[in-house]
Amino acid sequence: MSAVPSALLAPLFAPLAGLPGLRAAHARLPALARLIARAVGGERVIDLLFHLPESYIDRRSRVALGAVPPGRVVTVAVEVVRIERPGNDRQPTRAVVTDGTGFAEIAFFRGFPAARLAVGARVLVSGKADERRSFVHPEHIVPEADAARLPAVEPVWPLTAGLLGFHLRRPLAEALARIPDLPEWHDAALLRREAWPGFAAALRALHMPAEPPAPAPRRRLAYDELLAGQVALALVRRRRRARPGRALTGDGRLRARALATFGHALTPAQAAALAEIDADLAAPRRMLRLLQGDVGSGKTLVALLAMLRAVEAGGQAALLAPTEVLAQQHLRTLARLAPVPVALLTGAVKGAARGRILRALADGSLPLVVGTHALFQERVGYRDLALVVIDEQHRFGVDQRLLMGGKGEASDVLVMTATPIPRTLLLTQWGEMEVSRLREKPAGRAPVRTTLHALAALTEVTEAVGRALDRGARVYWVCPLVAESETADLAAAEARFALLRARFGDAVGLVHGQQEASLREAALADFAAGRTRVLVATTVIEVGVDVPEASVMVIEHAERFGLAQLHQLRGRVGRGSAASFCLLLHDDSLAETARRRLRLLRDTEDGFRIADEDFRLRGGGELLGTRQSGAPGWRLADPAGDEDLLHMAARDAALLLDKDPGLTGERGRAVRTLLALFERGAAMRTLAAG
Ligand code: ADP
Ligand code: MG
Repeated sequence: MSAVPSALLAPLFAPLAGLPGLRAAHARLPALARLIARAVGGERVIDLLFHLPESYIDRRSRVALGAVPPGRVVTVAVEVVRIERPGNDRQPTRAVVTDGTGFAEIAFFRGFPAARLAVGARVLVSGKADERRSFVHPEHIVPEADAARLPAVEPVWPLTAGLLGFHLRRPLAEALARIPDLPEWHDAALLRREAWPGFAAALRALHMPAEPPAPAPRRRLAYDELLAGQVALALVRRRRRARPGRALTGDGRLRARALATFGHALTPAQAAALAEIDADLAAPRRMLRLLQGDVGSGKTLVALLAMLRAVEAGGQAALLAPTEVLAQQHLRTLARLAPVPVALLTGAVKGAARGRILRALADGSLPLVVGTHALFQERVGYRDLALVVIDEQHRFGVDQRLLMGGKGEASDVLVMTATPIPRTLLLTQWGEMEVSRLREKPAGRAPVRTTLHALAALTEVTEAVGRALDRGARVYWVCPLVAESETADLAAAEARFALLRARFGDAVGLVHGQQEASLREAALADFAAGRTRVLVATTVIEVGVDVPEASVMVIEHAERFGLAQLHQLRGRVGRGSAASFCLLLHDDSLAETARRRLRLLRDTEDGFRIADEDFRLRGGGELLGTRQSGAPGWRLADPAGDEDLLHMAARDAALLLDKDPGLTGERGRAVRTLLALFERGAAMRTLAAG
């Protein structure tokens, strides 16, 4: 890697504390540097520069005192007519001011600026007034003669206790001045089309604006960050592909026997996913593929067929499950269908049995194994591990994924997940993998009919539930429970329970998180056994009940749930053969976006479409929150809001690397600077390693 970017960028990675505004010999300054470092989340100049304002106060609007709107930032030009000093210090000191159209007062509880607010002084005051036209501690009071000192547009940076926006101005001005002359890493045509400023100009436009900034500067910087991420991921992906793996091919004999035992044809989605997997397996490089599909979409069968291909090719295959229970469940499926030996290896398998399995894995006489992470302990040796399947269930992290790839040097890896991951997140967090999606479920599963109802229609909904009960149905009745309004929510759930009990008697049960565990388990067991047939619940998701006989789900205040969450909830019905229903009860007055979200859920059971929409509508906070560990956080971009830029960046990165795989051309070298700027050094080292 050439040394040019790091030397060029050195001023940006220098410590904040060295900036002139923070270097002066003032006792408070070391503390100020620390406060700034805390607010911006880093101790370097670049961290300050990347700490963008979250909003702007526009002080350009001048109004007459007679027309000051309360609660809005305005600037008024006034003359001081009188000072009122209170007899005690609980009252503020006030300057009464006028501009000829009316009067106002400027109030200070302490630190009254007597010099600027002397009787007869003419000043510009900028701040918010209350209904009584009182400006309490306005942010700016500037003598009229110095009007130019009043910032026209004031950025609002996220701050920390003890730090004021004012403290950031000088260090930021210095930091901006230190941005070196950097080569432009974006395509000239793109910059023209989007009317984007250069990197330094964009930062200046956001931190020191003369007018409220247009979207262009922030979008440019977001694109910088997204492109750096996409180039980095593409480099890692390309390097992985370039590394030798092995070509796994087979005559299909084992597969044919497994399918014959299974007795059904593959769904088109399964066939398509398997074809993608086969192509990867047959290629002389390592596979790293993510197989996504809702619970029940048939991932296990696809995994088994992939594993059998590895065996046909003369190798071994291992299936890794996140829990002992899931490992046993997989073993049952595999043992029933696989025409070759398969064993279970978990922490619970001990002694002679364990010894036998370890020997058989080492000498190759055991071709298939299912287990928990025990599969990948130091002492487990394989003769020839060709394929590792990881049933992720979003419990393994990126690091573990990489670790498991290491057992067989050239092992192919297939990861399965039941979480529909929005495309945006796939691109940013799983970008090192290829992806197959199982979009449709095996035939024979009746769709869940979903309908929307205003809460005002509760009586009709209750009657419909009564009719379903008459037909023998079992019903979940879900009430929301969120931390902020937990007490009220719990009361609402209990009230609903009482109401339904009055209507349907002992057939109604209640389960929620505040119950003692024994009560909760008893309530679930009663419902599973059919002793109760309506289960009022706040925590169905967490307790993970699986009752195939349940065919009706009522969800109250559906507008308060995330779409992905509603989709998961709804997945708890429609598992048996009975026709299933989901009734979404919503607030009587429903905002238009909320209505659109619920309609989407009504109109589709496609988890992927729902996940994408939900991500777009909610910004993906939840999913990001659970996945972000290990992944770089975003400082300038917002992957949900900037989705268009993300897709552009993915295409841009691919085209760039097609044309200039070593990043040695003019733009390529500039992009190296971009990677260094966003600290994607690891990706750059893949270049150095060739
Ligand atoms: P997942 O692992 O994605 O949750 P499973 O592999 O457990 O899904 O499959 C769910 C159910 O569908 C199982 O009972 C399985 O036997 C059945 N199944 C899978 N593929 C097919 C198919 N092609 N035709 C009919 N049934 C299938
Ligand atoms: Mg499964």
